[in-house]
Amino acid sequence: MSLSAEKAQDIRHNWTVDEAQALLSLPFNDLLFRAQTMHRRYFNPNEVQVSTLLSIKTGACPEDCAYCPQSARYDTGLEKEKLLEVQAVIEKAKAAKAAGSDRFCMGAAWRSPRKKDMPYVLAMVKGVKELGLETCMTLGMLDEEQSQQLAAAGLDYYNHNLDTSPEYYGEIITTRTYSDRLGTLANVRNAGMKVCSGGILGMGESTQDRAGLLVQLANLPTQPDSVPINQLVKVAGTPLESEQDLDPLDFVRVIAAARIMMPASHVRLSAGREQMSEEMQTMCFFAGANSIFYGECLLTTPNPAANKDQALFRKLGINSEHRVTREPESLETLLAVPENDERSLFYNAVQV
Ligand code: SF4
Repeated sequence: MSLSAEKAQDIRHNWTVDEAQALLSLPFNDLLFRAQTMHRRYFNPNEVQVSTLLSIKTGACPEDCAYCPQSARYDTGLEKEKLLEVQAVIEKAKAAKAAGSDRFCMGAAWRSPRKKDMPYVLAMVKGVKELGLETCMTLGMLDEEQSQQLAAAGLDYYNHNLDTSPEYYGEIITTRTYSDRLGTLANVRNAGMKVCSGGILGMGESTQDRAGLLVQLANLPTQPDSVPINQLVKVAGTPLESEQDLDPLDFVRVIAAARIMMPASHVRLSAGREQMSEEMQTMCFFAGANSIFYGECLLTTPNPAANKDQALFRKLGINSEHRVTREPESLETLLAVPENDERSLFYNAVQV
């Protein structure tokens, strides 16, 4: 069988929770071997895609996501901010480009964008796009019209996470339903944008819930282009502040299963990377993670400083992946801090 015929069989939309659980329960070495083998069929195993994330509107969110310091319902001491000015966002995107990012992600703590916000948001997309960067946004729920407007402005990716399994979801969020989330993903997909969707581990969910999340993602009509797998960052004041620590090897298992079930997707190490040792991140890359956010903060939670990423990538012989506009270059160039150190620009970022 040709590789392309084999590849067509790799991408399935009929996964069952039992199958996903069986993957998660494989002997660790067998699971990682399968994941690494699959990874090499679709990606250069020594390349990792790097994005920059900026909060364009922080805090005071009306939703009740139990993990989120930006919810107005929890007292986390987070300073809320208004929507940033369009020009300020474009300046930050320029700095991200100078620091080597190919993709600029903009996040706003909203239930969904209001009509009066849309012109500003659309102007941000156009302005960032004109810099030659890929654009990504996360703004909460979108209806059909908003999705069409964002696509027409040139938005490449839209992030909207499923967070967890449908069964566990009600323990984490009550202000929007699982089907609301799936509806937003359908609107984004139908408007022609690429979907970025994943979840959070360590919120007290069972292995079956982790399997259920992966099944939901893999069985979407088109598998998400990017699958962020977050580790809960326990923020004081949120309902999950005292949640039990996640076993790092269980996290790696989910990365590996995501790689096997969504072989052509970028699996992203997102929130919680600051709490991960170098060894754990390395295991995640081996298991098939091939995307990270870089910047001093991932939304409102700490993210490893760029120079730590640079050192780790150098140790591992990993280069940045540039699929759009540039030839591959070394991580050293990619993660070099620009002369006028702009890292502080990425400080005020928010949890989504
Ligand atoms: S995760 Fe997003 S929607 Fe939920 S409270 Fe935080 S900012 Fe609001």
